[in-house]
Amino acid sequence: MVHHYLAVRRFGEPSLEGVEIAEYLLALDPPLDLAEERPIQVGVVLLTTGTDPKTGKTPYAVVQLRQENLRADSYNIVGFQCHIKYGEQKRILQMIPGLENAEFIRFGQMHRNTYICSPKLLRETLQMRQHPRVLFAGQISGIEGYTEAMATGMIAGMNAARLARGLEPSPPPRESATGSLTFYLANADVKNFQPANTTFALLPAIEPELRKLLKRKADRCHFQTERGLKAFKDWLARIGEHEWSL
Ligand SMILES: Cc1cc2nc3c(=O)[nH]c(=O)nc-3n(C[C@H](O)[C@H](O)[C@H](O)COP(=O)(O)OP(=O)(O)OC[C@H]3O[C@@H](n4cnc5c(N)ncnc54)[C@H](O)[C@@H]3O)c2cc1C
Repeated sequence: MVHHYLAVRRFGEPSLEGVEIAEYLLALDPPLDLAEERPIQVGVVLLTTGTDPKTGKTPYAVVQLRQENLRADSYNIVGFQCHIKYGEQKRILQMIPGLENAEFIRFGQMHRNTYICSPKLLRETLQMRQHPRVLFAGQISGIEGYTEAMATGMIAGMNAARLARGLEPSPPPRESATGSLTFYLANADVKNFQPANTTFALLPAIEPELRKLLKRKADRCHFQTERGLKAFKDWLARIGEHEWSL
């Protein structure tokens, strides 16, 4: 949808006819926005005000090509998951300057994200409520992203090892980034549960009095980061997992 929109703006192609619009992108970027030419809100395309040194013209947007092999004869276009029909994808992508003669090895597809309803099933230790010797981590537990997958993997692994050693599993502290994720997994709304990335919004809010003193956003982020790191280190020491290095 996004690249079709780019093509529309760049080349004045008037019609969205024949394009299958993925529901996922519709939610982010409704057709109304496209029709009214509001700025694109989806993050995969860099809008730019710079000029192209070769032509002196300002492009509407820039897409990123990522090299895929050592021969440098295969590239993927970052972030172009979509449900657009393959023939349409080829036609539209070849409208991007420089890609007129590109050969397409494979086209964009939407991926399916499968996950359990963690707030119903999991504790903050990532153990199943009903079957505490079964633990979940990674995308299937309702998180999204590389670091989130690693963080929940470490917690589930650590707690599995504690179970095996006859120790009590322990949830990471709520103030830490990892703890805020596992807290979210175990306590989110069951009916509307959606996967989460790590964000500052998942962390506990700063107390109102303190917030008044931390006027700049950067100061508030710094405070939350330091508070989280300290809580995490203290927790590791408290439960005797000293060997982790941060
Ligand atoms: C196109 C795309 C782009 C992304 N970009 C980013 C990004 O830029 N930054 C970011 O942080 N995250 C990104 N993500 C999300 C990130 O990739 C995932 O959140 C993360 O990889 C999940 O890790 P995981 O180990 O939980 O699951 P996966 O990486 O999905 O690993 C699960 C593994 O289990 C295997 N498996 C499945 N079923 C079975 C079975 N029955 N038996 C044995 N093995 C099985 C699978 O083959 C797979 O290897 C992206 C995801 C996609 C699809």
